[in-house]
Amino acid sequence: MKAQICLLPGDGIGPEVVQAGRAVLETIASQHGHQFSFDEQLAGGAAIDATGNPLPDETITSCEAADAVLLGAVGGPKWSDPSAKVRPEQGLLKLRSVLGVFANLRPVQVLDELAAASPIKSELLKGVDLIVVRELTGGIYFGEKTRSETSASDLCTYHTHEIERIVRVAAALARKRRGKLCSVDKANVLETSRLWRETVDRLMADEFPDVELETLLVDAAAMHLLSRPADFDVIVTENMFGDILTDEASMLAGSLGLLPSASLGESTRGLYEPIHGSAPDIAGKGLANPAATIASVALLLRHSLGLESEAQQVEGAIRSVIQAGGRTADIAAPGDKVLSTSAFTEAVIKALR
Ligand code: NAD
Repeated sequence: MKAQICLLPGDGIGPEVVQAGRAVLETIASQHGHQFSFDEQLAGGAAIDATGNPLPDETITSCEAADAVLLGAVGGPKWSDPSAKVRPEQGLLKLRSVLGVFANLRPVQVLDELAAASPIKSELLKGVDLIVVRELTGGIYFGEKTRSETSASDLCTYHTHEIERIVRVAAALARKRRGKLCSVDKANVLETSRLWRETVDRLMADEFPDVELETLLVDAAAMHLLSRPADFDVIVTENMFGDILTDEASMLAGSLGLLPSASLGESTRGLYEPIHGSAPDIAGKGLANPAATIASVALLLRHSLGLESEAQQVEGAIRSVIQAGGRTADIAAPGDKVLSTSAFTEAVIKALR
């Protein structure tokens, strides 16, 4: 197949990990006879330095023309002055809105070999394989804000169609996996959550009667995610609850360097990125773990290009490198041989071959 992929390396370790992702895509293309073409563009701090704009028009045009976008990370101390008018994160928010991506998918898998890297007891982590689907463009983060000297408010609004479209994404995923969906809300207190729950119940009964539905209040969900993480298959929730629960879920896996994400909209075009930031403390040193970006490439192959077996091949290659003892510094135990970013990537490419 032919595909156009826009690469946005961004800042800090972004260029190092995107380079790893590209190498994996090139290997998959040459193995399976696909033609992937790449267009590398500026985003974030690097774009501010070059053009004064964190998401230049040329970058937007390239993203809109692409079948998928692979982003490294943006930001860093150089651009972090809170009073600055132009900030790297503005580029990221604009990119999400330009691409119309409303569903943020964060898969979390825990390999037995890495259970010790997690702060959670190893026996609870056996078999953890879940995806949190977070609504990305509605809710309290986007509602009207008011402020006086002594009071402030943030309006939280959800419309039925916003709930329906995110639940359809999550339920369709669950159907392809273990057939279990957990919807998280706060329906005992919030009106938006009552609409959320009614909509989920109706839609699941009408369109996904074969998918098992569990409903949890967000406070209970925060507890269950740590006490019985292996029970979850797909979790769907609104923007702010998802923001908090995805960070909690990421701790199950131990290192930020392992976890990918996909942001999807109505079309197959998606935005793929590791969940970590630009890690300025290790940038340029060859210490970054490229696994999260390579796993994001697997999501890109699956969700934007429809190449499920290639996606599984990439995920299998990461797993086999780790099972064979391949460790970057962030997941190494004392005494382990530590691989650089490029050595880990080479090992994944060897495993693909
Ligand atoms: P961070 O994720 O960059 O780093 C947190 C810690 O994890 C650091 O010690 C870092 O070295 C380590 N780490 C992160 N990714 C790693 C990897 N692949 N391999 C090994 N170790 C890794 O978070 P931070 O330090 O809070 O933020 C740094 C900058 O990144 C800030 O400017 C922040 O705004 C930005 N940021 C960007 C994004 C994004 O682009 N989506 C997300 C989060 C943070």
